[in-house]
Amino acid sequence: MGVVTEDAQNQALQTLKDRLATISDLRAAGAVLGWDRQTYMPPGGLNLRAEQLATLERLAHEMLVSPETGRLLEAAGEQPPGSEDAAVLRLVRRDYGRATKMPARLVAELSRASSLAHAAWEAARAASDWHLFAPHLERVLELRRETVGHLGYEDHPYDALLDLYEPRAKTAKLRAMFEELRTAIVPMIREISALPDEYRSRPLYGSYAEAGQETFGREVITAFGYDWGRGRQDRAVHPFCIDFGGPGDVRITTRFDPGWLSPALFATFHEAGHAIYDQNVDPSYARTPLFGGVSMGVHESQSRLWENLVGRSRAFWSFYYPALQKTFPEALGAVSAEAFYRAINEVRPAEIRVEADELTYNLHILLRFELELELIEGDLSVSELPAAWNARMEGYLGVTPENDAKGVLQDVHWAAGLFGYFPTYTIGNVLAAQLYEAAVLARPEIPGEIGRGEFGALRGWLRENVHRHGSRYDPDELVERATGRPPDTAPYLSYLKAKFGELYGL
Ligand code: ZN
Repeated sequence: MGVVTEDAQNQALQTLKDRLATISDLRAAGAVLGWDRQTYMPPGGLNLRAEQLATLERLAHEMLVSPETGRLLEAAGEQPPGSEDAAVLRLVRRDYGRATKMPARLVAELSRASSLAHAAWEAARAASDWHLFAPHLERVLELRRETVGHLGYEDHPYDALLDLYEPRAKTAKLRAMFEELRTAIVPMIREISALPDEYRSRPLYGSYAEAGQETFGREVITAFGYDWGRGRQDRAVHPFCIDFGGPGDVRITTRFDPGWLSPALFATFHEAGHAIYDQNVDPSYARTPLFGGVSMGVHESQSRLWENLVGRSRAFWSFYYPALQKTFPEALGAVSAEAFYRAINEVRPAEIRVEADELTYNLHILLRFELELELIEGDLSVSELPAAWNARMEGYLGVTPENDAKGVLQDVHWAAGLFGYFPTYTIGNVLAAQLYEAAVLARPEIPGEIGRGEFGALRGWLRENVHRHGSRYDPDELVERATGRPPDTAPYLSYLKAKFGELYGL
């Protein structure tokens, strides 16, 4: 390759990177406006803000799909394999390819249909009336199937949707993963359900003043390593974590229930786990496609690692429980550390996914995964969905939802067209255990440190092996580099068996 060609290639790459930085800035500006909408914006700002967000999104989209981006991608040629530049090109080619395959009409229709579906879903859930939502779901599903046709796939139509959230994930592999989980977990739940009901979680309900919850949560996530110089925590209806294109500003939100300790406490740990990931990406990746988590599943592995493997462990509470008791003497003064540990790990099959314990949680996801597959394959119609939902709830968890609001209407995802998204929650659980196991193998002092309220060794291992790489590697490659093998359910299953086996004497 001649010097001139190489020069031209590098110049095209540089021009492309400048363009990507501008796209990142437009998206970050939209994210700031979105954050504000969910935290401080008065209700009167809603319509104006929707226009502003749509404008920024349109400008970013136009820059991405313009022929100039295509020309630069071609002129940038191939960069050295394994290099950061090669990773940038791989990611932009994927996004550009996807965006240019989708007709503008379909993008606009999806956006309109999901806005209408969202409003219908809210009304349907409030009234527990499936028929208010069903026609909208039909339309969103139809557009999602059309999306699959444009994006294309090799093995299974669902792969095209999965790939939007979990690059290179395959339906066949997920089926195998869920089968391994189902085979191990369902018998454990049956055994636990046959035991006399102890209502272990009772101590978590009581008088928990908001100020105490907030102070305690902030103290813990500060020790986890959440950097307040590059973040903040505010209140929002739904807890979330949001970044603005770089590690210098990664914010979280939470909500408080003064009569129930769990939601704010574990949401705070969870969102801090997401934020610590983004705060520790290589700073030079800011304003590039390499910034941020590599996939929804890997991102979720970080939130669940801090929330569950650390935040629901005996070692963690052996250190923190006295401080929590001191914060809430009325509610917890007479509750032993052991009773508290049992309370936060109670296994109780129930209808609501977001309130599920670690053991039953994945069956909620399995059920959604199977129903989505059947909807996309065309084996299940929208009108049959509520009955299919209830039958599977009964089969997996032995629970029949009281009504559709607490059953098939409980989640917002389908209204938003997010088919293929749910499995990333279980991928996150599986990867959290695999990464934690590898971290402890490399740094055996980690469990002892957690028992002293110290998290430096764990955070350091995660930063080195996961966080700093941002989106540079595909999810499977990242996991293999970090743990020495591809994603594997074994560490997660042995974690569940050890923890709940001990808790319930199985
Ligand atoms: Zn999360």
